[in-house]
Amino acid sequence: MLKKERKRLLLGFYNPFLSYLLILFSSISAIVIIPLYADDKPLRQLKIPELSVGQEGISSWQKKVRHELSQRLSLPDTKPASFDEKQIKKEGNHEWNLKEIEIQSTLQRRMRVCLAIPFPQEEKKYPAIVCIHGHGGNRYTAFENEPSPYHEFGKILVQNGFVVITTDVSQHEVYEKDRTLMGERLWDLMRCVDYLETLPFVDKNRIGCAGLSLGGEMAMWLGAMDTRIKATVVCGFLTYMDQMEKNHCMCWKFEGLRELVDFPDIYGLIAPRALQCQNGEKEPPDQFPPSLAQKAWAEITPVYRAFNAEEKADLIIHSGGHEIAIEPMLNFLKRNLP
Ligand SMILES: [Zn+2]
Repeated sequence: MLKKERKRLLLGFYNPFLSYLLILFSSISAIVIIPLYADDKPLRQLKIPELSVGQEGISSWQKKVRHELSQRLSLPDTKPASFDEKQIKKEGNHEWNLKEIEIQSTLQRRMRVCLAIPFPQEEKKYPAIVCIHGHGGNRYTAFENEPSPYHEFGKILVQNGFVVITTDVSQHEVYEKDRTLMGERLWDLMRCVDYLETLPFVDKNRIGCAGLSLGGEMAMWLGAMDTRIKATVVCGFLTYMDQMEKNHCMCWKFEGLRELVDFPDIYGLIAPRALQCQNGEKEPPDQFPPSLAQKAWAEITPVYRAFNAEEKADLIIHSGGHEIAIEPMLNFLKRNLP
């Protein structure tokens, strides 16, 4: 009994003085701590502006947001002078040739890419797509056989006359000092675009990107930050940051992001260039449900309207789950990279 009482005393329930102290401490904490949080910068300070700012206003908002985001992503300032390309392996069949190559990514770091070219290769310039995998995938994921939520999208694009390039983006450790994870992933994808631009059989003005899940997120980033991308397909990643705070890997987040924008604002940077977003009806409510996608889409489409480019924005709610709907992706890319 005595032991129990001592325990209660320690907890402060029995002793009026301790209880008083406890209440006093809680009140002081509330007074001191709550204003500290309240002083935090408000979220989404660079939200899509009112359309009354006109096309010029929207364009200058896009430039400002891109600048602020590239600072927070810690993208390198300098590109290596050459790719110093080294072929790792090559394979082919009656429909395509696939090469794995190592190239210079940053001044200090090398990266691997896969490049798939239609076969037989014709004397012409091809449109090209950066195909991006999600968590747990790699540079070969886009070419993997069914069953897969990617449904062989890389292979199908090559069969339909696109050059395809892939790299790895699902690392969860930063490679170089003073960089961010999202920044390094994005940088490597931008280097894929740099590399495509050096290929004499690729049409620089017909480069697009497509991805699923984390790959969709990276397609969003690439389309938003790199204006060389003329068509972007994002599968299973149209949502809001509040939703991503729960039940998701937190690798999407980096310092200063939320204060600046939410996902619709990043998608708004892609306008007036072509954008297709796909969300499946069978997505669970805590993942990427169409209801949230439609809400986000309602914020993005006015930006396209401001540019008189509504026909470039395409939301697909398909009957599947967290996967790529091949047919709409293919039609969209053919239509927008003619
Ligand atoms: Zn992650």
